[in-house]
Amino acid sequence: MVLDPLLRSILGCPHCKGPLEEHEGPPPEVRCLRCLRAWPVEDGVPRMVHEEERRLTP
Ligand SMILES: [Zn+2]
Repeated sequence: MVLDPLLRSILGCPHCKGPLEEHEGPPPEVRCLRCLRAWPVEDGVPRMVHEEERRLTP
């Protein structure tokens, strides 16, 4: 499990508000497959800031 279940239930993509997909990694991250973005997860907390954002290739 990458994220705390409670955190997981309230989190959504900051761009499209869509559901996030967890990836165990390494490195652990959460991904939005709608806008093809990913953010790193540190100690169970996703760092959903623009600077940490990674674009996924389809
Ligand atoms: Zn999104």
